[in-house]
Parts: sequence; C-alpha cells; structure tokens
Amino acid sequence: MAVTSAPAALDVRDTAQQLGGDPGLGELCVLMKLGEIVLKGSNRNLFQRRLHNNIRSAARDLRSITLTQRGAGVIIVRMPGGSDLEVAELAERMRNVMGVVWVHLVRRVAKDLDSVTDIAVRSMAERAGTFAVKARRRDKRFPMTSSQIAVHIGSAVQHAHGLPVELKRPANTLHVEVDKDEVFVFTDGIPGQGGLPVGMSGRGLVLMSGGIDSPVAAHRMMRRGLKVDFLHFSGMPFTGPESIYKAYSLVRQLDRYQSGSRLFVVPFGKAQQQLKTSGIERLQIVAQRRLMLKTAEALADDLGAETLITGDALGQVSSQTMTNLTALDDAVDLPILRPLIGMDKTEIMDQARAIGTLSISELPDEDCCTLLTPRQVETAAKIADLRQIEKRLDAEELAEHLVTTAQLHRPSFLGDAAPARV
Ligand code: ATP
Ligand code: MG
Repeated sequence: MAVTSAPAALDVRDTAQQLGGDPGLGELCVLMKLGEIVLKGSNRNLFQRRLHNNIRSAARDLRSITLTQRGAGVIIVRMPGGSDLEVAELAERMRNVMGVVWVHLVRRVAKDLDSVTDIAVRSMAERAGTFAVKARRRDKRFPMTSSQIAVHIGSAVQHAHGLPVELKRPANTLHVEVDKDEVFVFTDGIPGQGGLPVGMSGRGLVLMSGGIDSPVAAHRMMRRGLKVDFLHFSGMPFTGPESIYKAYSLVRQLDRYQSGSRLFVVPFGKAQQQLKTSGIERLQIVAQRRLMLKTAEALADDLGAETLITGDALGQVSSQTMTNLTALDDAVDLPILRPLIGMDKTEIMDQARAIGTLSISELPDEDCCTLLTPRQVETAAKIADLRQIEKRLDAEELAEHLVTTAQLHRPSFLGDAAPARV
C-alpha cells in the first residue's frame, strides 16, 4: 500500500492551480476512501468516531471543516470558505491519517446532469492522451445508470477536447460519483496510509533510538491502530545531547500520523557504567537492553500502555539473534512487538524514506549503545546469567529509579502552535 510504494508528494500548488482558478467550477473538497474500517461490523461506529476525531486533530490548525460519512467507506471533508490552496493543504494532511486508503481532491456539483457534464468537461481541459469516465452511484435513485452517465459525459469530453476514449488503460480517468445530496467529479487520487485509525488498538510504548529501525517500527504499529508514546535512552552524561535532538525530530515527524505524541528521555549513561563495572563484559549489550525494557515496562505501567515496541530485526546485529531476543523477552511481562522482525535492512530503509524519517536517522550522533560496548558481544546470552547479574545490581529498583529521571517532551508536527489532546 501507500508506504511501500512511496507515493509522490501531492504538489499542493500545482493541484490547486490545475483544479482551481476557474470560478465556474464547483466547490473543492476532499473525498476519502476507507479500507479495513469497512469490514468491522458492529465495531464500525467506534471506528468511525475515532477516525473522525483523528481527522479533526490532523487539521486542527486549519480553517474549520465539516465531515460527512457516506456509507461505511467514504468520508467527505468540506472547508467552507477555504481557498483551493487551503483545501489542497487539507488533502495533504489527510494522506497521513491512518485508516484512509485514498485521498481525492474533488469538485462538489449540484445533482443535475448539465452542471456535472460542464464541470467534468472543464476539469479535463488541461489533459492530453486517452481517457475513460468511471461513474458510480451511491444514490441508486438517480434517474440514469452508471454506464449511461459515463457514456453521456465521455462523449461530451470527447467532443469538447478531442481526446480519445480508452477503457482498459486510459492515461486519464475521470471519476463521477453520484451521492445523496450532490455529485463529486474528480480526476486523480493519492494513496493514503491504509491501516486502522490510531487509538483503535490501544496504547503502546516505543523504544526509540536515533536509528533507522525504531521509527519504522513505530509507524507500522500506529498503522495498525496503536496510539504510541516514545522512550529514548541517551548516553548522558557521557555523550552529548545529539541523540536527544534526533529522537525529538523523529517523533515530531511521526506525530504527523497520530497527533499528541509524547517523548520521554532517560539519561542512561550512569546505569550503563554501573553494569560495566559489575564485570559482565560480553553480556553488556543484552543486559543493557534488558534494563531498557524493564524501565520501559515501569513507564508503560504509568502510562497505561499495554505493549512495548522495538525495531529489532532477526539477525541484523549480534544482539538480535534468536537466543538473545528470547533473553530480552524474559526481562519483562509485557508483550514486546517487533514489527520489523522479518524485514531486510533495505526494505526498512525504503519504508523509512517513505515515512520521512530516513534523513533524520542518518544524521550523526553518539548512540548510547556504542558507549561502553565490549569488544565481543555474546550471541547466545544465558537467561540465568543475566538474572543473576540483575539480582546483584537490583535491576528492578534501578529501572524504577530511571523512570523518575525521565524528561517529558511533546514534539508536535505543528510546533507549539496547536497542542493536541493526548
Ligand atoms: P535502530 O535502528 O532502531 O537503532 P538497531 O538496528 O540499531 O535499531 P539496536 O541498536 O540493537 O538495533 O536496537 C534494537 C532496538 O532496541 C531498537 O530498534 C530500539 O527499539 C531499541 N533501542 C536501542 N537503543 C535504544 C535507545 N538508545 N533508546 C531507546 N531504545 C533503544
Ligand atoms: Mg540502534
């Protein structure tokens, strides 16, 4: 779906110019097609309410909007008094709302064949190459069938612009959708994120490094309806603050997909040193990761999160062997979701590029995990050894203490302009 195909950005100015600038055209608004939400049976109302809230939240700093649900699968967003450019910006925002499969900039026209034909003909004025008309009726009382509408409008377009009709693989598709109170006319669409509305699947806590993987893991789980908070461990006081800046920028970018993101930053350097001085050597990395997970679990408890999320991929680095991952699972009671577990690095990088996090992740920083890294990393950590070390250090208490040192940030994709509800 959208994120794998890296959709080209909707050029707001081009789109608005292409569709607008002609006062004879009907009101520009945004029509969205939904995906799996349609299948949810008795839960559907809950899904719709959540999705409508998320849409409003994503547009909260723009001119006010109205939402209309049409059947289970279509939402129309209108922006009364909005310019074409403002409506195009609204469409751009809607691309990032989870649960939306297609976003279309559409003309809203009176339910009268002549007006519809007029707008349809005008909207094809700048086009070249073959075309087809696709007509649909969500209102079956309309006096013409879909194919009658398509034939009527198709011949008007052909007559006006001399474009050849091609039904199988047209260069341009003109959509005409007859609705309850109006008709929508549009040409192109842009893919949305797909998935489920954020918040529908509960809450999770993402362990967020400054690397490439964890932001992609976060996006994947948001896409399946989890609302997430983020926890970053910095190497402070032994490293600079660069990794925190990166985590902050990454969360701000990911906030486009959910709104109201919280980032907790825990200075981890001293705890790492404490582990190191206990002489655990090859187990340092796995022991560190277990301590991160224990801290995350304590924070998740405070936040009401039901799961932890990491960017682990099987075998990608030595701490991610099957044995080590099992040893990590043993550290906490909460389930650990690892949505990237079966992905190659190149696939993860493609995803990171598509969701806009790759360039941030590639900025240089001093990762806390490379701090105090032993020369050799244990690839088959024994759980009993790890538990013994943790007993000596009282790791549970250390984790509880680390949570109290967490600093809260609220990186918003809108800056500080319009705080979102959490
Ligand atoms: P990433 O690209 O996400 O950093 P990675 O391939 O570098 O992952 P590791 O460094 O072993 O792999 O980390 C695996 C996972 O552990 C990360 O995806 C993240 O979920 C968590 N993690 C690692 N370092 C940190 C950190 N400093 N703060 C929070 N979570 C971390
Ligand atoms: Mg990393």
